[in-house]
Amino acid sequence: MIAAQLLAYFFTELKDDKVKKIDKYLYAMRFSDETLLDIMKRFRMELGNGLGQDTNPTATVKMLPTFVRSIPDGSEKGDFIALDLGGSAFRILRVKVSHEKKQTVQMESQVYDTPEDIIHGSGTQLFDHVAECLGDFMEKQNIKDKKLPVGFTFSFPCAQTKLNESFLLNWTKRFKASGVEGMDVVALLNKAIKKRGVGTGTNACYMEELRHIDLVEGDEGRMCINTEWGAFGDNGMLEDIRTEFDREIDRGSLNPGKQLFEKMVSGMYMGELVRLILVKMAKEEFLFEGRITPELLTKGTFETKHVSAIEKSKEGLTKAKEILGRLGVEPSADDCIAVQHVCTIVSHRSANLIAATLGGILSRLKDNKGNPRLRTTVGIDGSLYKMHPQYARRLHKTVRRLVPESDVRFLLSESGSSKGAAMVTAVAYRLADQRRQITETLDEFRLTNDQLLEVKKRMRTEIQNGLGKKTHDSATVKMWPTYVRSTPDGSEKGDFLALDLGGTNFRVLLVKIRSGKRRTVEMHNKIYAIPMEVMQGTGEELFDHIVQCISDFLDYMGMKNTRLPLGFTFSFPCRQTSLDAGILVTWTKGFKATDCEGENVVGLLREGIKRREEFDLDVVAVVNDTVGTMMTCAYEEATCEVGLIAGTGSNACYMEEMRNIETVEGDVGRMCVNMEWGAFGDNGCLDDIRTEYDRAVDDLSLNPGKQRYEKMCSGMYLGEIVRNILIDLTKRGFLFRGQISETLKTRGIFETKFLSQIESDRLALLQVRSILQQLGLDSTCDDSIIVKEVCGTVSHRAAQLCGAGMAAVVDKIRENRGLDQMDITVGVDGTLYKLHPHFSGIMHQTVKELAPKCNVNFFLSEDGSGKGAALITAVGCRMREQEEKS
Ligand code: ADP
Ligand code: MG
Repeated sequence: MIAAQLLAYFFTELKDDKVKKIDKYLYAMRFSDETLLDIMKRFRMELGNGLGQDTNPTATVKMLPTFVRSIPDGSEKGDFIALDLGGSAFRILRVKVSHEKKQTVQMESQVYDTPEDIIHGSGTQLFDHVAECLGDFMEKQNIKDKKLPVGFTFSFPCAQTKLNESFLLNWTKRFKASGVEGMDVVALLNKAIKKRGVGTGTNACYMEELRHIDLVEGDEGRMCINTEWGAFGDNGMLEDIRTEFDREIDRGSLNPGKQLFEKMVSGMYMGELVRLILVKMAKEEFLFEGRITPELLTKGTFETKHVSAIEKSKEGLTKAKEILGRLGVEPSADDCIAVQHVCTIVSHRSANLIAATLGGILSRLKDNKGNPRLRTTVGIDGSLYKMHPQYARRLHKTVRRLVPESDVRFLLSESGSSKGAAMVTAVAYRLADQRRQITETLDEFRLTNDQLLEVKKRMRTEIQNGLGKKTHDSATVKMWPTYVRSTPDGSEKGDFLALDLGGTNFRVLLVKIRSGKRRTVEMHNKIYAIPMEVMQGTGEELFDHIVQCISDFLDYMGMKNTRLPLGFTFSFPCRQTSLDAGILVTWTKGFKATDCEGENVVGLLREGIKRREEFDLDVVAVVNDTVGTMMTCAYEEATCEVGLIAGTGSNACYMEEMRNIETVEGDVGRMCVNMEWGAFGDNGCLDDIRTEYDRAVDDLSLNPGKQRYEKMCSGMYLGEIVRNILIDLTKRGFLFRGQISETLKTRGIFETKFLSQIESDRLALLQVRSILQQLGLDSTCDDSIIVKEVCGTVSHRAAQLCGAGMAAVVDKIRENRGLDQMDITVGVDGTLYKLHPHFSGIMHQTVKELAPKCNVNFFLSEDGSGKGAALITAVGCRMREQEEKS
């Protein structure tokens, strides 16, 4: 009894002793948490380098984008084929994802041999072999004539440029086929498939590295990144923790100096690592009484599955005896215990290192999200993780210890990477298809150079029609004479009142112009709201309101008793018969007051003043805002002979030769014409470039069928166009999870200022998302990308169309003057022009391209409606005095 106890005691002593010795022997493979945290820190640094634009080219951990922006959203369905090359076996699978009630995945697969001579042969041989196997598989599955999408899991470091384009950087593991590195492997595969005449016909579309880890959840909308962490340490980062055994493994590998981290952790090298340790220990007579057999010295005789077997708690030691016995080393019971412990150390190190790198990713995700705690799921695949008795548990424990502020769930990717590949193929297909449809939709807005030249040509025709005596009545672009015959000469002076009606705000201004050596313009103004019910009430109400505002302003300035000359900026299409008479042709923008169309608005204003019986004013001029803008600019810059507005509405004016204006008597000199180009296209001449969204915006507007050009390029409508596109894309399931919110249904909710914000280059995607969220549009980052693209497309077209119109104008002026080359200045006003980040640049560029013989200088001309109106009034007063004298 006592003897037996003693024996047992002695045995444990011995065991502990041996174990302690081995621990000492392999101390370099056992990491403290401190070391692991340090490795984690290093890996985070490498992650950063891989992601940085400047640092990526030299980074070892490449962080390759996969172009998969979404995780499966459950809507994928269909029949797919997945090829899985690069794992331990080459497999082909057929995956059917169906949707009746519950999503089900049905799978059939077959493993194919990849003989050594093919793996090390030429690339053509390798891909021919793959195609061969695929053909066989399809034949067996009876799907020879079906065109099924093929997903390609290709587990090697690739630089993926598109979903279906991926260049092999370098072979790893046991592969070394020639002529493949640097090539697009998807193209190679497709070529081989075609050559073999396999019936799939469809392109292999997607590749994904699922070998290690696939971060599945909680990362919505961001692109899935393939870290290629196997190369961690290739820059010397891990030298301090690599052992002589790691170096030996590397020296004997196909790719020395590469994939150093992978060689320390992956199942492929683990058995070999243990073997090398055993050899050394035997040589030092620490094991097997120094017996070394040829089997023990042969590469590959100790496999990773042996490591798993030996570490099993119950039968591990028996297994060890069996396995070592086959190597001919005749192990003692002690040897078996020792070998088991060596296995534990090597596999434990692998789990520890994986935990450290995974911890690096998790801590980065946590920081990205800015949450104090990270909740996430990690999908894991790989036979080591699945088969090894303790690997998974150790990995989980260490990760939780290293990143304590996280709730990590580990999910085994059940059916291996191939099911993943098929699911991802499905996602990729859905995304690619959506992408194609979105692109197609937006392509309608993308105008070619020829189309823009055509727009310019048509504008020119319409200009001609508006100016011609016979054609004017039926013309859409009316080319109204303004009776402004010259730009300011600097001698203008006096105090003037100006009204600005027709923009977002109604304003009353007092403008004091001083001439002489020191020319100055001093302005005082007050903004008044015009309530919607007044804008769309009766004409009398509207003008009473205007006069009431003037009255308030005169009180405010203390000028009730002076009879000031007044310029009335009235930014709607008017048929002018003199400087101070303008008949409203039609309301535009948001106005719709009754009994005004067909009336002289100066008359309406004078009547309003009379009705009030409170003050008197001398209405000298009715002014269009484009003309005011041109005049303001011309006051500073004499070459300015064109005015442009890109604000709520869109319009232009320019100095035309009197001889060309057939609607006004006289052939001498020039007169400014208010083009009213917003109506361009109202005769259908732009219908070929208008989209269904333009038509929808038009149909819902106050003036259907009118101002078609303006509705494609001005601030009042751009947001509405965007909103209509978004509604359509949502209906088709590409946005906002297919849910059309009340917000999105609200007309006018998407103001043009949001386009400016969203399109700003300084804005990160998250900020776009928050703008949309403020608008009440609950969006993902994916949605934000699409919304931004929609905005950009709509505003780009607007700027180009505006530029095409302007090109027609400047070229006409140039031809009027018989010039080969002309310098000219355009005065521009309007918030769209001023505040949109890209509108002005694109517009300038378009003019340059479409009117290369004009050197056009754009000049921001603020407050044309006030200052310009005063200048026109001053010119008018001067002319009236001249007439009175003569
Ligand atoms: P108006 O043309 O009415 O005289 P503006 O030139 O100020 O006045 O233009 C106002 C219009 O500009 C608004 O109706 C809106 O469509 C557009 N807008 C307002 N803010 C912005 C912005 N930040 N970026 C682009 N457009 C804007
Ligand atoms: Mg304005």
